Amino acid sequence: MRFDLLTIFPEIFSSYLSESIIKRAIANKKIVIKIHDIRKYSKDKHHKTDDIPYGGGPGMVMTPQPIYDCIKAVKKHNKGPVIYLSPRGTILTQTKAQTLLKKNRKTGIILLCGRYEGIDQRIVDLCVDEELSIGKYILTGGELPAMVVLDVLARLIPGVLGDNESAAEESFSRALKGKKEYPHYTRPEKFMGLSVPPVLRSGHHAEIKKWRNENLK
Ligand code: SAM
Repeated sequence: MRFDLLTIFPEIFSSYLSESIIKRAIANKKIVIKIHDIRKYSKDKHHKTDDIPYGGGPGMVMTPQPIYDCIKAVKKHNKGPVIYLSPRGTILTQTKAQTLLKKNRKTGIILLCGRYEGIDQRIVDLCVDEELSIGKYILTGGELPAMVVLDVLARLIPGVLGDNESAAEESFSRALKGKKEYPHYTRPEKFMGLSVPPVLRSGHHAEIKKWRNENLK
């Protein structure tokens, strides 16, 4: 699946994308990630991408021209929806992620990261298919939310997780009927006076399954 990330801070993504599961997913061509610097599309002689808000008030607003031209260029390669990360959007859930993946796995998605007070509304009106929020709080920019969306979706693509890391039985999954996962334990058997529940060491698979079911949240 292809993800195009539109940002004025393209460097932000590099360390996250070069580690662990996401790094492997890129190497195995399960996902393709293209990062686009909105600033490069600015026709302003100083490559400005923000200006003061009409009507007054604090902060700056991202100007429409560079975003519009950036989206236009990216759409030549990605026919998926333009998703603007925004606190005004629908809240991302595991179910929402599954729907997004199902609808857009073949086409890809374009993730637009805002900064400052956000983007000019005319970009939302002209180019944005959907506004998506990652929670009821305000972050400095849309880059972390875009990474969250990318990570949540990537884990659901078959083959991205190894057999030992299956997403099928994780918290909020269909298999757990929306419940949260059971607690995990590893070695040592005793830590700071606390022991691993004996049933998990019993080797009795039916009993272990029962215990895990009883300990879903
Ligand atoms: N003035 C905006 C408001 O009150 O709703 C907040 C703007 S925020 C400081 C700057 C950018 O961060 C937004 O344009 C958006 O892209 C991103 N952002 C912040 N919080 C977010 C959230 N909870 N979910 C998704 N994106 C968010």
